Amino acid sequence: MQIQLLPSSFDAGGSANAAQRLTCFVIDDRVTVDAGSIGIALTDSQRRTVRDVIVTHPHMDHIASLPIYVDDLFGELEQPVRIHATAKVIELLKLDVFNDTVYPKFDELKNEHGSVMEYLPFEPGKEFRVAHLNVTAITVNHIVPTVGLVISDGKTTVAFSSDTAETEEFWKVVNRAQQLHALFIEASFPDSMQKLAHASKHLTPSMLRSELTKLNHNGMDILAVHLKPAFREKVAQELSQLQIDNLSVMETGRIYEW
Ligand SMILES: [Zn+2]
Ligand SMILES: [Zn+2]
Repeated sequence: MQIQLLPSSFDAGGSANAAQRLTCFVIDDRVTVDAGSIGIALTDSQRRTVRDVIVTHPHMDHIASLPIYVDDLFGELEQPVRIHATAKVIELLKLDVFNDTVYPKFDELKNEHGSVMEYLPFEPGKEFRVAHLNVTAITVNHIVPTVGLVISDGKTTVAFSSDTAETEEFWKVVNRAQQLHALFIEASFPDSMQKLAHASKHLTPSMLRSELTKLNHNGMDILAVHLKPAFREKVAQELSQLQIDNLSVMETGRIYEW
């Protein structure tokens, strides 16, 4: 399984900027987890193959350029862009984003081949299929309805915390997996900003360490994501001070493989 955290922007030479302002993971060039930078950072080849988008929650950093993605592809789509999310998140996307005011109700529009965008609801706790992947969503502890994800292609299993503060059920489901190859876990704020992390329901490095004690698996790669760009260096430094094996900050643009 190949997973890439799309860059949010590019430096003058064209290389990926390290700061993660937006969240969009691309899996095997076919499926994305969230869609923050989907409309601005996919390669031309990925734009031809990515048709399934799992939206963990409707915060802007996770959906920012999704409307632009569908718009850009409007005329050439031979199958719809499929938005997989909980019924609640779909309701919010319809109400606040694809509402004919902020952007068109793409789910009601067609090109010469048919629908251009389709909502596919899933239920937390029930495994569902997205392209070649088996996915289980688990409600996590964020300020809007949000799910974490356990995703398997039959060989490799990975887990995404999405945005969350301390959480329980997510770890129970992750622990049920036979093996875990990689964990993508958020670390938004430095320890000194614990209050803000608490109010906005995110993790600090200390909270991340305590969350990991709920995990039964060993040896997987742990990739910290969602470091707020303004505090990136501080958070990265605190993460390295935790001295946890295989824990690193995920690099934008790099293709990781398990
Ligand atoms: Zn969020
Ligand atoms: Zn976020």
